[in-house]
Amino acid sequence: MKWRTGLSYDDVLLVPQYSDIRSRREINLESSLDNNIVLKLPIISSPMDTVTESAMASRMSQCGGLGIVHRYNTIAQQVEITKNIHKGSQYGCALGVKGDFIERAQELYLNGARMFCLDVAHGHHVMMKEALREIKTLFQGFDVHIMAGNVATRDAFEDLANWGADSIRCNIGGGSICSTRIQTGHGLPGFETILDCFNANIKRDVKIIADGGIRNSGDIVKALAAGADFVMLGSILAGTIESPGTIVIDTNGNKRKVYRGMASKEAQFNWKGSHGSNEGIATTVPYKGEASQILIELENGIRSGLSYSGARTILELQTKAKFIIQTNAGQSESRTHILGAN
Ligand code: IMP
Repeated sequence: MKWRTGLSYDDVLLVPQYSDIRSRREINLESSLDNNIVLKLPIISSPMDTVTESAMASRMSQCGGLGIVHRYNTIAQQVEITKNIHKGSQYGCALGVKGDFIERAQELYLNGARMFCLDVAHGHHVMMKEALREIKTLFQGFDVHIMAGNVATRDAFEDLANWGADSIRCNIGGGSICSTRIQTGHGLPGFETILDCFNANIKRDVKIIADGGIRNSGDIVKALAAGADFVMLGSILAGTIESPGTIVIDTNGNKRKVYRGMASKEAQFNWKGSHGSNEGIATTVPYKGEASQILIELENGIRSGLSYSGARTILELQTKAKFIIQTNAGQSESRTHILGAN
């Protein structure tokens, strides 16, 4: 057996390079899903019931990104959510790969949706193949974008691309609330997956979404530099005004909001009344206020990141990026580590 090491975001750093960029305003973070969906900010919010409904989708679009409305509801509820998204916003809608997904896609399309996300935990699957065939047939000749996932490997990426996916969510088991790797022993470090998928994509133009495990703008810059066109965020955007759910007060009087994996017992019970899998956890995160504030801070961090590599666009970043693997000592040095602060 050949052993291979898989790198994670913390294992690598981007090597700073000569820059002639005088202002972060010179940097253009535009990224396109296709000719119709061009985002000013390469950030997509996760299709999760504690992340994206109307308010988040509206805010994401307003801030230059895109929200994908979760599918853990009835068709009527999902349609209602899309109706409440601010007029003119760009948004996507998640679908499953079985059951009512075709009827759901039709209803959502009739109500204005033009971007769909076939959203399953293990996308390299015969049911994904069949679902992609059905949905591509349904929308043949229509201007509709189909995202699919999630995948972890080059083979999976190639298959989904061949099956017709326009963009692919990459990373299995890396989400902050995910217990897939613990429950099943399967997964691949998130950064490694992006490198693999980028290599699989060299002769094509399927868009790569780095999904799960992204904790800060540094991780976003690393994901983009490794080949992602977009990042997808759950936990960073959870706990905001725009995320669904009410504020709860903990025993210390602090405001918090629920954030949970869609494969957690809690989410499954909520929507189905029972649970099959249990590959996620439910927790609460501190209440963070407005998502727009978080997005502005992330955007500033990403712009700075590009300037450290001397890059004015994401494509230039991908061309110029030089990564270095850091040791454990390097990782400790990379975190804030002022003596006596703890
Ligand atoms: P985060 O940004 O690290 O919080 O990860 C969010 C991502 O985790 C989502 O976009 C999904 O790909 C993934 N995810 C959502 N729910 C679950 C779950 O219950 N188990 C495993 N992964 C999940």
